[in-house]
Amino acid sequence: METRELTCIGCPMGCMLTVTMDKGEVIEVKGNTCPKGDIYARKEVVNPTRIVTSTVKITGGDKERVSCKTESDIPKAKIFEVMKDIDAAVVAAPAQIGDVLIENVAGTGVNVIATRNVAKA
Ligand code: SF4
Repeated sequence: METRELTCIGCPMGCMLTVTMDKGEVIEVKGNTCPKGDIYARKEVVNPTRIVTSTVKITGGDKERVSCKTESDIPKAKIFEVMKDIDAAVVAAPAQIGDVLIENVAGTGVNVIATRNVAKA
């Protein structure tokens, strides 16, 4: 048996979670105030994922950068590669919320989408 301590990131309460595992399998989650904490803890110890938020350089627009996020969770282990692709990307204005700025970022199968509008300058 092994235990892991985690802080739930599901809401600002930040409940302290204790996960009991046996041979890589989750046996029990304690400390969660709501079911979201149980789901988060089980995923975090087996397959941690994150939404990445950042900005991408945009040319010809009324802003220099457009805020963005991954369309869905990506493996936590890929965050560095995803950030590298986002840093290297340059897109052309205009951009609308929800537009795909980078397809299949870092080979994750997930797109990076705009989270604000940038009009042409
Ligand atoms: S367990 Fe529920 S209440 Fe506690 S931090 Fe997570 S989401 Fe919030």
